[in-house]
Amino acid sequence: MSENLPAHAEIVVIGGGIVGCSTAYHLARDHGAEVIVLEQNQLTSGSTWHAAGLVGQLRSSASITQVLRYSVSLYERLEAETGLATGWKMTGCLRLATNAERMTEFKRLATTARSFGMEMHLISPAEVAAMWPLMDVSDLVGASFLPTDGQASPSDITQSLAKGARTHGARFFEGVRVAGFGFENGRIVRVETDSGAIACERIVNCGGQWARQIGALAGVSVPLQPMKHQYVVTQPIPGLARDAPTLRDPDRGTYFKEEVGGLVMGGYEPDPQAWTSGDVPDDFAFRLFDDDFDHFEPHMLNAIARVPALAKVGVRRMIHAPESFTSDGNFILGRAPECPNFFVGAGFNAFGIASGGGAGWVLAQWVMSGEAPLDLWPVDLRRFSAVHADHAWLRERVIEATAKHYTIAFPHEEYLSGRPRLVSPLYDRLKARGAAFGSKLGWERANWFAPPGVERKDEYAMVRQNWFAAVGEEHRATRERVAVFDQSSFAKFEVSGPDAERALDFLCAGDVAKPPGRLTYTQLLNSRGGVECDLTVARLAADRFTLVTGTGFRTHDAAWIRDHIPGGLDIRLGDVTEERATLAVMGPRARELLARISSDDLGAAAFPFGHVRKIGAAGREAIAMRVTYVGELGWELHMRTADAPAVFDALMNEGESLGVALAGYRAIESLRLEKGYRAWGADITPNDNPFEAGLGFAVSLGKRDFLGRTALLEARREPLKKRLASFVCDDEDVVLIGRETILRDGKPVGYLSSGGYGYTLARPIGLGYVKNAEGVSEEWALGGVYELVVAQERRPCRISFEPLYDPKATRVKS
Ligand SMILES: Cc1cc2nc3c(=O)[nH]c(=O)nc-3n(C[C@H](O)[C@H](O)[C@H](O)COP(=O)(O)OP(=O)(O)OC[C@H]3O[C@@H](n4cnc5c(N)ncnc54)[C@H](O)[C@@H]3O)c2cc1C
Repeated sequence: MSENLPAHAEIVVIGGGIVGCSTAYHLARDHGAEVIVLEQNQLTSGSTWHAAGLVGQLRSSASITQVLRYSVSLYERLEAETGLATGWKMTGCLRLATNAERMTEFKRLATTARSFGMEMHLISPAEVAAMWPLMDVSDLVGASFLPTDGQASPSDITQSLAKGARTHGARFFEGVRVAGFGFENGRIVRVETDSGAIACERIVNCGGQWARQIGALAGVSVPLQPMKHQYVVTQPIPGLARDAPTLRDPDRGTYFKEEVGGLVMGGYEPDPQAWTSGDVPDDFAFRLFDDDFDHFEPHMLNAIARVPALAKVGVRRMIHAPESFTSDGNFILGRAPECPNFFVGAGFNAFGIASGGGAGWVLAQWVMSGEAPLDLWPVDLRRFSAVHADHAWLRERVIEATAKHYTIAFPHEEYLSGRPRLVSPLYDRLKARGAAFGSKLGWERANWFAPPGVERKDEYAMVRQNWFAAVGEEHRATRERVAVFDQSSFAKFEVSGPDAERALDFLCAGDVAKPPGRLTYTQLLNSRGGVECDLTVARLAADRFTLVTGTGFRTHDAAWIRDHIPGGLDIRLGDVTEERATLAVMGPRARELLARISSDDLGAAAFPFGHVRKIGAAGREAIAMRVTYVGELGWELHMRTADAPAVFDALMNEGESLGVALAGYRAIESLRLEKGYRAWGADITPNDNPFEAGLGFAVSLGKRDFLGRTALLEARREPLKKRLASFVCDDEDVVLIGRETILRDGKPVGYLSSGGYGYTLARPIGLGYVKNAEGVSEEWALGGVYELVVAQERRPCRISFEPLYDPKATRVKS
């Protein structure tokens, strides 16, 4: 092979599994890129060759569902293009429910499918029996059927993609192992292999379960863990239809697929087994583990109970093999935060065949332009942090996430493993006061506070959960008195240096070039005008700014900023998240409370909304920002971590007579929804521009150039085709969680990006985009009669473009 290796390639794809081949195919076909694929063994020899081949499409994100739908459309037509079969069969997929909560989950999923433009039917046990006569349906309460799902032959698709890629000029080199990288100025300039070095511009790591160790060679963390997974292939079963739908029986932990007249049957157990935490051997090609019948036996028993005919046929073979899983069950795509020309497509959680076609399609676009072509946040490599690079922690969390593969997905569920990991300096104090913690990017955060006599533990349900009343009290305290929120986990960056203003001026859609002492709420946009970051910029000095963003966006936002600072500017970007604690003091009595611990003038004239000042607080120094995410008078106090306990104690002691309360993140969610404040990743994403999101007020188009401005100017020429609005249900008992379909005059026009409950309004509320190809004028939008489809039921609601609470912001500015 070595003599054929080129000295240079524009793009080097590492890994000849389905993901590498799909990425190479799309790079070559769609972008005419000069691409080579390096495979250490043979194409498909990693995880791809032994996959079961079920192809499902529906995910909880519209964009990821779009990616998986693209896979199906590709597999349908690939054979015609390349002449190599893919084994694609659109059999549909049945999901079985044996209890009411599972059925509610399916009803919500069917609604989500509709919101995303897909059909998913709910059917009766009798209809299931008619579609799949070999099945025992006696314990079923119902099922869902997604007719466009199907199955394919993993190796055949991969070979077909490789052939398509070759046709468009891609070159494949088998038996070539990547062993290192050469760097210049922080970028990779060379891939080193066991057969020689190749100079290159970009690298795509599609190394499957090896992707972590390939990443490590480049100093890039790819947090995945190989897990063991088993399925059996049976002898032919008399009466089994060749076009039988694929079958998922999550309450029994099993799945089925027809294959050559028999069944492929596998499962997900509550005690999944991790494989190595060290390096995966290079020669693990076309290899399997020894059969583990003991571990598999519960699946076999469950499967026979479901399909009794299985008891009478033999097992032809057992596949026991590794696959890489991640800590949240989603795969990993995108540009590495540690290295600007290193991209990753890995960690496919046993749905890499379903995802491969679409993942390669979007990854190729990402590699070419440096930007995700759509909102890929749920799979973005930048959703992880240093915590995920700790392999012991990761392994524990991945085991927990994998065990949840088939459990009912309750709203508001929290992971339990690997906690506590990062804690605020107030952790023990909050704990002593009844905090029920959740975790976000490793941080423990108080979700709610259990009143005396109430257990501080979430009890998950599809209906209202046990914390509902306690969060209501926190909400009311914020609206009526004053509440203290520990938001120390906020990601905080310092941007400083002579060119700090110029850099931020280019990155931010809002005008940050204000005098020191001013805050700017702003978005950072991509070249399409889509919102990549949503944050607050505080100007502390002519050459120094503090940026505050959401806990979960720490890696993402820092990487976006670093990757897009124009060259040649003299600035420093520092992460000060752990150095500074944050307490938000919010509510009509916030000023009164702060005045008890500070002698600084906090009056409306001296310290107006949108300003930042250094103040004294309980004898310590704090940077006070007059800003709010809950819609009340209030300040965020940022202070040295060591000072936080004293400031907190003073606030709680001095606030007692004012009725101060502690409040958590679930109260914030309710408060911000009433106020119509947007959440990045849900209501505002790279798919949405600020005008569509109702954030035009935060954009300063002016004359200065900034990233995304050209696209915004372009967008302004056309009527808006979608607009974010608030929705409030008339029926107080409806439970909204997001993705409910919005009907206008009975026709679907969008879905909720966020859903929850507003305790001041005493109504379920949500945010969502209303879409119309002819344009969404206010008259058109407000002129309709609205309903929300909630778990398949139509519920009347009202639309509003104004915040549902305090629309004139008089409370915020008081
Ligand atoms: C038992 C089982 C059943 C499954 N069933 C399904 C299913 O029904 N549906 C579904 O969608 N998914 C299923 N999967 C998951 C699916 O197999 C994977 O998600 C998918 O194959 C991952 O593809 P990949 O290209 O990322 O990785 P791989 O196929 O593992 O490809 C990675 C390649 O990188 C190469 N490589 C690694 N290191 C280097 C190096 N240093 N230099 C050069 N090359 C290197 C490897 O040799 C390998 O060929 C299943 C998995 C298992 C284990």
